[in-house]
Amino acid sequence: MVQINKNYLKLKAGYLFPEIARRVKNFSDNNPDANLIRLGIGDVTEPLPSACREAMKQAIDEMGTQEGFHGYGPEQGYQWLRQVIAKNDYESRGCEVYPEEIFISDGSKCDSSNILDILGLHNKIAVTDPVYPVYVDSNVMTGRTGQAENQGRYEGLIYIPITAENDFKAEIPQKPVDLIYLCFPNNPTGAVATKEELNKWVQYAKENKALILFDAAYEAFIQDDLIPHSIYEIPGARDCAIEFRSFSKNAGFTGTRCAFTVIPKSLRGFSDANEIDIWSLWSRRQSTKFNGVSYIVQRGAEAVYSNEGKKQISNLVDFYMLNAEIIRSSLSDAGFEVFGAVNAPYAWIKTPDNMDSWEFFDFLLNKANVVGTPGSGFGSSGEGYFRLSAFNSRQNVQLAMERIAKI
Ligand SMILES: *Cc1c(COP(=O)(O)O)cnc(C)c1O
Repeated sequence: MVQINKNYLKLKAGYLFPEIARRVKNFSDNNPDANLIRLGIGDVTEPLPSACREAMKQAIDEMGTQEGFHGYGPEQGYQWLRQVIAKNDYESRGCEVYPEEIFISDGSKCDSSNILDILGLHNKIAVTDPVYPVYVDSNVMTGRTGQAENQGRYEGLIYIPITAENDFKAEIPQKPVDLIYLCFPNNPTGAVATKEELNKWVQYAKENKALILFDAAYEAFIQDDLIPHSIYEIPGARDCAIEFRSFSKNAGFTGTRCAFTVIPKSLRGFSDANEIDIWSLWSRRQSTKFNGVSYIVQRGAEAVYSNEGKKQISNLVDFYMLNAEIIRSSLSDAGFEVFGAVNAPYAWIKTPDNMDSWEFFDFLLNKANVVGTPGSGFGSSGEGYFRLSAFNSRQNVQLAMERIAKI
């Protein structure tokens, strides 16, 4: 009798996006003529930059020649891509990150889950609340939590609330932790972390021999020069942090697939009290379980760092950030309390009149035909909030804001 991984049965059934889809379908069936505007799911909408497309076309042609054919590539990624990343994303910001420390992958979602492969089962794990659900669910699936409690929190995880009351700052918990997930600019709240705040975490992690998993998927959207783009801008982070980056949001690679993870060679974990080099474990893991990203896609990612590519990516970011500004200012003018949307493509809205997140979802769907994401779906501290994404056309964003202003 084949047994399944029982941990999967602990996962909460009514997952966020299926429930949204169910309510939207129900509404559409009853209102077939309604023109719905979707500002819910965090997927990009603008086309792939031409620099990336051209590079990939050229790579396809190379693959059709005897000399230019590429079979299995290095599992950690091609050296030329790792080099341009090290130079442009790290050296240029004064961070010490070497090409060999950059592991090219097919996604930060995958890497931020797969990293658990090389970490012990009994670490004390902290996540923010609200949180990107992948961090929590991947811990549930691998048996690192107990059951879900009434509020949807899992036993065994340590939740760090980030709400308007604490200015969306992730404070160091009272209980000691070994593994900490931080995502800044934050999905879903759009909050950012200053150097001082990240410095506290790095000092904490160093003192407690803990590990920070830093998700910087939205770093390209930072507008404020004082906000760090990388955890490695903080002294000492090489000894206690892994960073996840992705081409999904800055370069529109959500359907093309390329990302990378930085594991400094100086990073140490422990086997009982013995120091173990984490880089070697991840390298071993990737060589065994991962085939690398296709040559064609890595050439596309390399083009992000060409002069043309940089301009095009910067225009994409500007486009989405103007959407974010339109959302932020329109909703503020309409009397809503709006957070985020300044250094991140998400607006995090306090629901009006003490509505809960799902009530506000239904209200917006019915009155404005606008779909957003209920904050409670990201954790119990997200209750009473609502996320709107800037990933849409200008016309849709403007129309959605006009409709919301009228209700
Ligand atoms: C979109 C997103 C990513 C990127 O994931 P990919 O798997 O690289 O597409 C990572 N982290 C967060 C918080 C995200 O919202």
